[in-house]
Amino acid sequence: MNDPRRHEADPPYVSPVTLRDVWKARQRIAPYVRKTPLTASPIFSARIGASVFLKLETFQETGSFKVRGAANKILSLTPDEQRRGVTTFSTGNHGLAVAHIARQLGITAVICVSRRVPRAKADAIERLGARLEVDGDSQDDAERHCYELQERQGMTVIKPFDDPYVIAGQGTIGLELLEDLPEIEAVVVPLSGGGLIAGIGYTLKSASPDIEVIGVSMERSAAMSHSLQAGRPVVVAEHDTLADSLLGGIGRENQYSFGMVRRYVDDVVLVSEEAIAEGMAVLFDQQRMVVEGAAATGIAALLHGNVARPGSNIAVIVSGNNVDTRAFLTAIGRSPAFGA
Ligand SMILES: *Cc1c(COP(=O)(O)O)cnc(C)c1O
Repeated sequence: MNDPRRHEADPPYVSPVTLRDVWKARQRIAPYVRKTPLTASPIFSARIGASVFLKLETFQETGSFKVRGAANKILSLTPDEQRRGVTTFSTGNHGLAVAHIARQLGITAVICVSRRVPRAKADAIERLGARLEVDGDSQDDAERHCYELQERQGMTVIKPFDDPYVIAGQGTIGLELLEDLPEIEAVVVPLSGGGLIAGIGYTLKSASPDIEVIGVSMERSAAMSHSLQAGRPVVVAEHDTLADSLLGGIGRENQYSFGMVRRYVDDVVLVSEEAIAEGMAVLFDQQRMVVEGAAATGIAALLHGNVARPGSNIAVIVSGNNVDTRAFLTAIGRSPAFGA
């Protein structure tokens, strides 16, 4: 029962992504993806007593960082796989990214989504020339539909986060952070399935294990946080949230991102809907930036989550800006940060 050899036999953790993979990703995706600005934020720095920098992934084509992973994966497919086309399930931003990259490369793309996806995102995917297939009420339903297409039509499923190529693509943000802020001490990253934080966390920890990697999810439906606590992927119910891009499970069969998050993430902070709305309002009011709820979770954590060490250099990933105007105005109008 208490076999002492068991511990010795446990193999050491080996990351499914290497630093070389991240550098290769950077070279591969360079023609399709921007190096985004990292801007100092005197306003947030003064408010929390640390040096705050914003990494503006809102400047990517299609409005989020997801083009990095999508481009790296699709460009790594064989010519034959590319000919048969790609498909994916997505709350929106990953779907947009896959559609955009596929169009650039002249590859067929089918995007499977659930009925929960905001109309604005669905319209945007169709405008990018992809075929949209709507099925079910959750990410899991959309995912099932996607794998049916893979079986029936031989398309390649481009997973949103649980794929080493996707993770390496998102990891290129880590390289850019090290370039622009070599003295970085902490990074705050919106967290859903964990592809983004796995890539960034792995890359930064490879440079220096002392760099603190902090994930942020919404209190409602925080699948990764619950999974970390349980020590295995768990399913949580999906509830409407301002951070709709963070909805979805981490996959019961998660192979890569969960293990990397366990290994390379120091802490996960949960933020309330009020804090997310305040983050959106403050980014607009103080920085003149329009961001979606998911992208405001980092700022929400800075303002309420007690994540920053005094005086430290901290980068916050502002991950996307796909929000429809009405939802945006409602969110910032309700926030006490506005006019308070
Ligand atoms: C997908 C997404 C995230 C979370 O990325 P994961 O790799 O799923 O953790 C954060 N913000 C935005 C805007 C996204 O689209």
